[in-house]
Amino acid sequence: MFSKILIANRGEIALRVIRACKEMAIRTVAIYSEADRNSLHVRLADEAICVGGPKAEQSYLNIPAIVSAAEIADVDGIHPGYGFLSQNAHFAEICESCNITFIGPSAQTIRLLGDKLAAKDLMRKIGIPIIPGSMAAVKNKDDALKTARRIHYPIIIKAAAGGGGRGMRVCHNDVRLVSALTTCQVEAEANFGNSDVFVEKYLEEPRHIEFQILADRAGHTIHVGERDCTIQRRHQKLIEEAPSPAVDSKLRRKMGDLAVRAAKSAGYSTVGTVEFLLDRTGAFYFIEMNTRIQVEHPVTEMVTGIDLIKEQIRMAAGESLSMKQDDVVMEGWAIECRVNAEDPSNGFSPSPGRITFLHQPGGPGVRVDSYVFAGYDVPPYYDSLLAKLITKGDTRQDAIRVMQRALDEFIIEPLRTTLPLHRQIFADPTFWRGQLTTDYLERLLGNGE
Ligand code: ADP
Repeated sequence: MFSKILIANRGEIALRVIRACKEMAIRTVAIYSEADRNSLHVRLADEAICVGGPKAEQSYLNIPAIVSAAEIADVDGIHPGYGFLSQNAHFAEICESCNITFIGPSAQTIRLLGDKLAAKDLMRKIGIPIIPGSMAAVKNKDDALKTARRIHYPIIIKAAAGGGGRGMRVCHNDVRLVSALTTCQVEAEANFGNSDVFVEKYLEEPRHIEFQILADRAGHTIHVGERDCTIQRRHQKLIEEAPSPAVDSKLRRKMGDLAVRAAKSAGYSTVGTVEFLLDRTGAFYFIEMNTRIQVEHPVTEMVTGIDLIKEQIRMAAGESLSMKQDDVVMEGWAIECRVNAEDPSNGFSPSPGRITFLHQPGGPGVRVDSYVFAGYDVPPYYDSLLAKLITKGDTRQDAIRVMQRALDEFIIEPLRTTLPLHRQIFADPTFWRGQLTTDYLERLLGNGE
C-alpha cells in the first residue's frame, strides 16, 4: 500500500482524496497555485507545496513542477483527481518513469481511450454498438459532406481528443456543416492540442447513461451499476442520479456486461466510466470511456456503499478486487446537484468572488462534498464547481424530497449560483416523472439559457 500520496488537483476532489487517504492511514501532499494559498486542501493535507502561478498552465498543469514536488516530498503515488492532468497519458508516463505510481490506468490505455475515434473503433471491433459516423478524422469539407449524406442530418461534429462537453457542434444542413467544420478544427487544436474532428449522427432526445467500472491490475473487472446524467447544460452534466429511471434489471445486465467488455478490451485498471447514449427506442450506443474518477461518483457510492476512491487507491497499489459482480447491490436512490458559481439567468456566466455567508444543508440522507467556507474567495481561474449536494432516499421520490428541503437550506451569499435553477428543476413535474432527455434544460428554460 502507498505510504504517501500527492494529490495533483484542488477543490472538492482534493478534499475527497485527502479524506480517503486519512482513513487508509496514507499521508497526503497537496499542491497549490499562488491563488489557492488559503484553500482548504492546503490546510487539510499533511504537507503542501506551491507549484506555480494562478493560471492552471502555471500550476495544476505544470508537469515539471508537480513531478519535482512529488520527488521532494518523496511520495509513492500521485492521485490526479478529475480534469487537469487526470487523462494526460504523457503525465502518467512521466510518473511511471520516476517510479511514482499514477493512480489510474496505464499511459497506453489513457492514450487509446482519450482518442474518441480510436475508442469507437475498438468498441466496434468487439461488438459494442457505436453511433454511425466517420471512422477516421474528417479530412476536408467534401469528406464531411459525404458522411452527412450517408448518415443524414442532424449530425454532430466532435473533437477526437475532446472532453468537458466542449468543442461540439450540432449541424442541421450542409451550409452549417461546412462553416462549423473549420471552427471546430481550430477550437480542437486550441483546446486539446489536436485538430482532429469527426462527425456522427446526432441522436435526438437521448438519455446519458454511464456505467462505473472497477478493475484490478490482474484484469478482474466488474461494474457497480449505472448513473443517469441526462440533465445537462451545453452537453455538460448538472444533475446525476443512480440508478437510472430508464434502466431496468434486464437492461442493466445487458449494458453492464458490455461496459465490462469495453473496459477489458482496453486493458483497463482502477476506476473508470463507460458512457452510453440511450435513444427513444431503447437502443444504446457507446460514446466514450473516461479513464478517471468522475465528478458524479458519489451517487454510486451512496447506493452501493462502496468507497470508490479507496477502491481506486487499493487497485492502483496492486491489490485484487475484493468483490465479485454478484456481490454488488444497488439499494435506494441517490441524486447529485452540481452547485456552481455561475449565473443560470445569464447564460451560466462564471460568478467568482468572496463568499460572505455560507450555510450547508445537513440532516438525514444528505451529503455535501465541497471545499468552500465563509470568507473564501472563489478564484476566477478554475472550474466553477463549489459543492456537490447529494441526497439519498429509499425511492427516487424520497431522494427528491430530501433534495428539495436540502436545496432550501443551502445558502451561499452573495455569489450567483446554480442553486435557484436546481430548486426550479426539483419542483418540475416532468423531472419528478423521470421522463428526461438531454434537451430537458433547454426546454425548461425556454431555449433561452
Ligand atoms: P465530452 O467528452 O466532451 O463530455 P461526450 O462525447 O461524453 O463529450 O458527450 C457529452 C454529451 O454530449 C452527451 O452526454 C450528450 O448529451 C451529447 N452528445 C454527444 N454525442 C452525441 C450524439 N451523437 N447525439 C446526441 N447527443 C450527443
